Amino acid sequence: MRRAVVIGAGFGGLASALRLAARGLQVTVVDRLNGPGGRGREFVRQGQGAAGGLQFKYDAGPTVLTAPVLFEELFALFGERLADHVELLPVKPWYQMRFADGSQLNYGGTTEQIQAEIARFSKKDADAYPAFLAYSRKLFEKGYEELGSQPFLNWRSMIRVMPAMMRLRADRSVYSLTASFFKDEHVRRAFSIQPLLVGGNPFETTSIYSLIHCLEREWGIWFPKGGMARLVQAMVELGQRHGVSFEWGAQVKHIEAEGERASFVLLQDGRRLAADEVVSNADPGFVMTHLLPPAMQQRAQVTRKTYSMGLFVWYFSTSRQYADVPHHTILFGQTYREVLQKSSTPSSCPMT
Ligand SMILES: Cc1cc2nc3c(=O)[nH]c(=O)nc-3n(C[C@H](O)[C@H](O)[C@H](O)COP(=O)(O)OP(=O)(O)OC[C@H]3O[C@@H](n4cnc5c(N)ncnc54)[C@H](O)[C@@H]3O)c2cc1C
Repeated sequence: MRRAVVIGAGFGGLASALRLAARGLQVTVVDRLNGPGGRGREFVRQGQGAAGGLQFKYDAGPTVLTAPVLFEELFALFGERLADHVELLPVKPWYQMRFADGSQLNYGGTTEQIQAEIARFSKKDADAYPAFLAYSRKLFEKGYEELGSQPFLNWRSMIRVMPAMMRLRADRSVYSLTASFFKDEHVRRAFSIQPLLVGGNPFETTSIYSLIHCLEREWGIWFPKGGMARLVQAMVELGQRHGVSFEWGAQVKHIEAEGERASFVLLQDGRRLAADEVVSNADPGFVMTHLLPPAMQQRAQVTRKTYSMGLFVWYFSTSRQYADVPHHTILFGQTYREVLQKSSTPSSCPMT
């Protein structure tokens, strides 16, 4: 039986492990953390003060789930159904945008619902929404359905898609594309912030990312009952039912290679795991500069790159319910372009 080692038990590593197991490989997943989930892991803290007797569970990262179909696909590989293990709850509204002037926009729903929300800010922009959605669909069809699963590892593969990208005006930023449809600044912000979810600056990220709106319309926005960690756990249990083994607290020191093929994964504790296939879903910059064998490292290429924005996450708990705060609430400050420009400059956003 061919053996595979997957480095990282975040969503990406877990999905890779399941796909390899479904192809008949004997899969071991290793993660340096003490449990699964990576950025989507769960942690528990004891409350303090008046909440001293309470225990609080936190989802460390993702707040909402888009494209649940990708998770359904993983369960279907083994003839199972995601719905038998995780209940997905629809998030309504998808996001609530709260602006500094006190106004609010409930983003999401049907075309009519979205137009009605936009119309509260600008009737003209509401009329322009169907054209924006049609453009977002074109981007979705090209950028997600056709190219989403293709690797772009060299110039030749990039050049092949250039003509299509030029036709779709991929040279424009998300904000500039959005501003060409909508004139009201609230509406422009509401329909251009999506790149921030993937660390991109809407004023610099290629307008291809405006496909996210169509993707949201296609499958909606969801939250797993019990937290994002419930979905992570269901993926781990699916793997366990089908022979995948997991090692927690197992930090990878190096990937060893024979010729151009990875052959062993060396752990910090000195163990060497033999592998016919190695998938690493640790951060690519780290893999290329630290984990790959020295001859394969791409230190120069990585240090020349600019990292995308990181984020500061503030976790807090409360024993009160806030019925007026929807699950996915986004608060805007006075400025938009200015704050993003500041946080994109290397001096104010050190790479760590
Ligand atoms: C605060 C926050 C909110 C977010 N909100 C959303 C959202 O609402 N919706 C959404 O879709 N996405 C959201 N994201 C993004 C989403 O969480 C990530 O894209 C996703 O979790 C990344 O998964 P991954 O498997 O690619 O990487 P990771 O989760 O980072 O997994 C990589 C794993 O590799 C392990 N690893 C690294 N180095 C080593 C090593 N040397 N040896 C062994 N193991 C190693 C790490 O411990 C980690 O577990 C959010 C992210 C954050 C931080």
